Amino acid sequence: MRRASWLLVLVSLVLANACSGGSGGGGIGALGLPDMTPTEIVAPIATPPPTLAPSPAPIPAAELPIIDLHFHPDPAWGGEALDRLFDQLNVRAGGNGAAGADAVAISEAAKHPGRIIPFSGGQTVRTLIDRYGSRVWTLEAEEARRYLEELETSLRDELYKGIGEVHVNNWNSNIIGSPRYRYPADSALVQQLFELASTHDVPLSVHMDGEPDSVAQMERLLAGNRDGLLIWAHTGHYADPATLRRLLEAHPNLYCELSYRTAISAGRRAPAMDDNGRLRPEWLALLEAFPDRFVIGTDIGFASPPAYAAHIATWRGILLQLSPETAVKLAYLNAERLVKVSP
Ligand SMILES: [Zn+2]
Repeated sequence: MRRASWLLVLVSLVLANACSGGSGGGGIGALGLPDMTPTEIVAPIATPPPTLAPSPAPIPAAELPIIDLHFHPDPAWGGEALDRLFDQLNVRAGGNGAAGADAVAISEAAKHPGRIIPFSGGQTVRTLIDRYGSRVWTLEAEEARRYLEELETSLRDELYKGIGEVHVNNWNSNIIGSPRYRYPADSALVQQLFELASTHDVPLSVHMDGEPDSVAQMERLLAGNRDGLLIWAHTGHYADPATLRRLLEAHPNLYCELSYRTAISAGRRAPAMDDNGRLRPEWLALLEAFPDRFVIGTDIGFASPPAYAAHIATWRGILLQLSPETAVKLAYLNAERLVKVSP
């Protein structure tokens, strides 16, 4: 190596002399080699290490802001009372379809700017199906087609941040007190809703029990429009982690919302956590394997600040069990990306 270095030095000196056109008396041509030791030549110039700005410390999971993507706006929560509740619990925003007509979602969003995220379509689609049956999901009913036109206008006017919650299969999950629906997740109606969602860059929230036939229909819907983003409300209620892993791998446009999968929700069938609030190992592994694909939801059916606070406390307990990177994504980053709300 040392011999090679010296050869390089000699060649460099020859070239340097030639290029400068010089013929100085001290040049190599005159054999006036300078007395240079290898250390003088090869000593590297010390480069200072790059100075990196210290990265901000991560916010502890217990203090992360939360976006709740299964919150049905309802005037019964109150005006300032809702803002105070969200402030106390550090819930930055909540949203989905209103508990009532779409107009309720719009007016609540206007009363709570940036805090209520209005979705469209949940109640309207249910009412249409109650009235016209299967002719709604086949789009044979003129009323259904007219609704889609109205929805398109509202989306063009950016009145809504999402579509849903659309109940395509709540047969096993809403047993008491709610009407039950079961129609294909890839029916003409849902395909059109998904198309509208992707055209206007908003997600479609679908309540669909994790039954094999429904799952197969949902897979066809997802594969048919990769630009569409689907939020699977309640993560299918009882879809198991192995199925979810397969679906999340196969469908990059599938997102899972986790209300009714925690131990606090009444009527849960396969919670991700045990009765002591610990995430089951297969769920912890799933959330860490797909940290960008899950969002938080509460889905409280009636306005109850104590019940809401208990749900958020449950969620904070779950966030504490996740890595800081995954916790911040579940708390609000994934939701923020899906519904385009700014910090
Ligand atoms: Zn639901």
